[in-house]
Amino acid sequence: MQADWLEFERRHVWHPYASMQKPLPAYAVSRAEGVYLEFCDGRRVIDGMSSWWCAIHGYNVPELNAAAHAQLEKMSHVMFGGLTHEPAANLAKMLLQLLPHQQHLFFCDSGSVAVEVAMKMALQYWQAKGVARKRRLLTLRGGYHGDTFGAMSVCDPVSGMHHLYQGVLATQYFADAPDGSDWHPSQIDAFESEIRMHHDAIAAVILEPLVQGAGGMRFYAKEYLQAVRQLCDRYDVLLIADEIATGFGRTGTMFACEQAEVAADITCVGKALTGGYMSLAATLCSAEVSDGIHAGGGGVLMHGPTFMANPLACRVAQASLELLLASPWQQRVAAIAAQLAQQLAPCRASTVVADVRVKGAIGVVEMKQPLDVAAVQAQLVSRGVWLRPFGRLLYTMPPFVISAAELTKVTAAMCDVVASIDG
Ligand code: PMP
Repeated sequence: MQADWLEFERRHVWHPYASMQKPLPAYAVSRAEGVYLEFCDGRRVIDGMSSWWCAIHGYNVPELNAAAHAQLEKMSHVMFGGLTHEPAANLAKMLLQLLPHQQHLFFCDSGSVAVEVAMKMALQYWQAKGVARKRRLLTLRGGYHGDTFGAMSVCDPVSGMHHLYQGVLATQYFADAPDGSDWHPSQIDAFESEIRMHHDAIAAVILEPLVQGAGGMRFYAKEYLQAVRQLCDRYDVLLIADEIATGFGRTGTMFACEQAEVAADITCVGKALTGGYMSLAATLCSAEVSDGIHAGGGGVLMHGPTFMANPLACRVAQASLELLLASPWQQRVAAIAAQLAQQLAPCRASTVVADVRVKGAIGVVEMKQPLDVAAVQAQLVSRGVWLRPFGRLLYTMPPFVISAAELTKVTAAMCDVVASIDG
């Protein structure tokens, strides 16, 4: 029997990138535990998405629950204007230890806002240094950085539907993204020509290091990232690493930039920061960037959201990082990668599959044609698996705590989807 609230919700509440007139089915969840989501109708599915890549420890995690309860007893939230608290200080300390080339950080409420803040930092840096003409960004096609206007302006112009916002959206510079993860030096040509031509107007390059996530789940080589860093140095342009999706172990290192031994001037983190418990993000910057912002006497960073540095979120984030660091996360991610590579490999033989690729705890089957999301989801749910395909991509980014048997269920369901489309 369908609950009244479900029908009300379906008629009144917007879902991501959705129509209110033709809503896609939404499965009602009553609780979540370990790697399982439990639906109101009693079914249980393995979450192969980590709730959009956040829930790295799974759900209902005793350590995170305990941290949240303890913090709730003290205070859930206080404003950060003129007040401060230990959860913010403790989390800042941990993050700055994990990103030792960064010196200062700004806490905000979502990944998109972290990107907005990064863009403001870059613009204010050049403004304060008296180089106000450097106010645009250079990025890669196929990227995704969020849905607010600044962040949207650096998302892929086609999949980000820039035409809807023409005249309002800032115009930025775009370079073609590298064509796959095998490095060859000509990959950097498109980027090099953009930065060479426009560096006078470019405040910063923004990119997702090594993995372009929501824009297409594409991977690229560390050499490309190294070449970008060198060109940023040569042309006096800041580098913003958007580690919102890649951060906290997903690609096999704590941050993807580590694989290239590249230090960004500004780093954005979010998503898995709280282990998926609640929304929190941060923008970190080097002493050089921060000094630049304050150059010429007393500039302030122009941002200050209501829920900045929410104590509850900071306390849970600290517990999540402690749990991650105390766990064998590198081995877990490496084991997930090996299993994904082995179990998704057979999909390559299918005529409907364009590519199969794995990086860290990310497994992607790229089809030749777009998937019917509702139909594929129904099929996956009937196999006890939760994934959210998009476009031509069927992919998994499971919680790091998933067992080998549970992951086998996920990959078997993915292979089934491919087989049923192949006929
Ligand atoms: N940057 C990247 C790389 C992302 O993957 C996302 C979210 N998918 C964002 C920014 C935006 O984060 P949020 O949805 O928390 O605003």
